[in-house]
Amino acid sequence: MTDEHAIVIVGASLAGAKAAEALRTEGFTGRVLLCGEEPERPYERPPLSKGYLRGEDGSDKVFVHDKTFYDSVGIDLRLSCRVEAIEPAEQQVTLAGGERIGYDELLLTTGATPRRLRLPGADLAGVHYLRNLTDSDHLREAIQAAGRIVVIGGGWIGCEVAASARQLGAEVAMVEVSELPLQRVLGPELGAFYRDVHADAGVELHLGIGVEALRGSGSVEEVVLADATVLAAPVVAVGVGVSPRTELADAAGLTLDNGVVTDEYLSTSAAGIYAAGDVAAAWHPVLGRRIRLEHWSSALNQGPAAAANMLADIGGAKGKQPYTKIPYFFSDQYDVGMEYSGLASSWDRIVYRGDPATRQFIAFWLADGRVQAGMNVNVWDVAGPIADIVATRQTVDAGDLADPDVDLVQLADKLAAAGG
Ligand code: NAP
Repeated sequence: MTDEHAIVIVGASLAGAKAAEALRTEGFTGRVLLCGEEPERPYERPPLSKGYLRGEDGSDKVFVHDKTFYDSVGIDLRLSCRVEAIEPAEQQVTLAGGERIGYDELLLTTGATPRRLRLPGADLAGVHYLRNLTDSDHLREAIQAAGRIVVIGGGWIGCEVAASARQLGAEVAMVEVSELPLQRVLGPELGAFYRDVHADAGVELHLGIGVEALRGSGSVEEVVLADATVLAAPVVAVGVGVSPRTELADAAGLTLDNGVVTDEYLSTSAAGIYAAGDVAAAWHPVLGRRIRLEHWSSALNQGPAAAANMLADIGGAKGKQPYTKIPYFFSDQYDVGMEYSGLASSWDRIVYRGDPATRQFIAFWLADGRVQAGMNVNVWDVAGPIADIVATRQTVDAGDLADPDVDLVQLADKLAAAGG
């Protein structure tokens, strides 16, 4: 690795910032340009629907690095900087304003953007989406001023915003097209668990029903449901999913399939271009399929993994390593904290360690006797062994999973040994 190499990172998010940091910690002394569209230096998004939204955590808690970090390690951080185009053949990017910058390696960490509601009244003032710091600030102010909010979508954003709004003392109604919140990821049993958590906290739930229109003069006042129910809605928060930001990759001719397609090294279809975080649809060699994860841990871990592989391309001492981390995310809603490790898209059985009614338990999703995912709720220091159990892909005795006297670390070790 020589000083002549240049690495450009498009997207100054958690994935981009951690990648830039990793380049320096791995000893790269060449040029690092970290280019972000937002005016803020890189920050983490999980607090935006939790402590930051409630005003409990200040902005000092959200930034990935302190202000001086980027200068101190020679990272050229450009904020409010839009990359207009990537030209893989020329190995250069064009910034808004026309500046052209050459690269040897490029990392795409362009993230995702909230899906917009396409309904009459969806553009009224008072309809909020939550993606960035300013969105969170505006939403907090709106909730506090109105004292009531309708949350459209019972996914992660919807559930966490509903919980935070209740914790701020507001009346909350949640509208979700599925029969249960979080049903697509957790399934009906655990979706019902979260329904009850929100019902007990006083959230007015409208499940299994769509939104017909939003109404108001100038600013939103009402949400009209498909059965003509009208909800008072001085503020609306929408969390109906996100779409990967693939425009640049698309224009550059990269292969796309629900995100920017990468191999297990996070390398895209264009030589020297990598992708990480929400935008990357990466082949996962342990799970044996391509996955695109919109979770904090992928941003945190894939950025550095891609950075290390970019360095391998340009003569670094280490060889390329596949990205094999088991997916992980966490959520805090009221006093219910959870961590989820693995990825269960289909299963034939759920095994519980502990009773969900106590709100302190572990759920394991199994298919053909193998653990696909585990979720620990108000039980801590077990996410590591749960991920290890998932990674073994070994069949497991359901009795061992359910028995609180069976140590999960030892169980993971036993399964790993059985797998050779
Ligand atoms: P999400 O988790 O995909 O949930 C979207 C929800 O909205 C789904 O339950 C979906 O139902 C529902 N929905 C879709 N269209 C609707 C409509 N017209 N009316 C009512 N409900 C509708 O997405 P999100 O909550 O917007 O979160 C955005 C991203 O941030 C996600 O990738 C999420 O994983 C991430 N995030 C993660 C965390 C965390 O890890 N703790 C926290 C916040 C956000 P169907 O499933 O039936 O389509």
